[in-house]
Amino acid sequence: MHCTQSIAALKALYAWHDLWSADFPRACGPGCATCCTANVSLTSLEARYLVAAPRFEETPEIGEKIRGLTAGPLYRPTCTINQVAACCLAHQEPPEDTSEHVAGVCLFLDDQRQCRIYAHRPMACRAMASQVRCRPGSEAVVAPLVLTVNLALHQIIEHLDQEGVFGSLPEVVLWVLGNGVTRPLPGNQPLPGFLVPDDEQEGFNDFLRALAAWPVEGGRFGDHLPGRQPGGEEGRP
Ligand code: SF4
Repeated sequence: MHCTQSIAALKALYAWHDLWSADFPRACGPGCATCCTANVSLTSLEARYLVAAPRFEETPEIGEKIRGLTAGPLYRPTCTINQVAACCLAHQEPPEDTSEHVAGVCLFLDDQRQCRIYAHRPMACRAMASQVRCRPGSEAVVAPLVLTVNLALHQIIEHLDQEGVFGSLPEVVLWVLGNGVTRPLPGNQPLPGFLVPDDEQEGFNDFLRALAAWPVEGGRFGDHLPGRQPGGEEGRP
């Protein structure tokens, strides 16, 4: 798929998620940045969109800062989300993720604890919506269907970016900027299917139907999904 089409589909997916997730209560707000750690991962498609954010250039010495980060300890996922999903669907053990999370905050968090690239933030950040205020060391509280749909959206984004890579935010941004990443990053994989608990199947089908019908430049989001997806008429979550 052409990069421009993939970015248009990604923007449509984010817009759809904004509307859909608004129906679920959340305690998150400006200045609440407990989840803005140094362990955010994303696809190269999301990184391409992120570097187009208006305030991206305001991040001081971005290239140097990222190079410093990637030279030190960094969370480096060893496989992609669709790789893990494919193993789960085949009842096989996924590859072991040997990388460990590291301390520190995201390089895009500013002095007021706000995100410099908020409107362009990746899916991993959008998925972090807790029903209760988080504290360091505590866990977010998220409705089960929201978790399932967020996982599916991560998988779909990877599917849109099959010629791209997956990894930690600093490394993938560096990869997109063409500034040299000194090790191979996991390559994105096509969508192998979704992981949906039986008791969420109905809600999940509603989600997929609404997303498939959601408009994307010149078509519907279902055009970007493998196989024929059920398209509703309204295309609204
Ligand atoms: S990209 Fe923005 S929202 Fe995401 S972790 Fe970084 S500062 Fe937080």
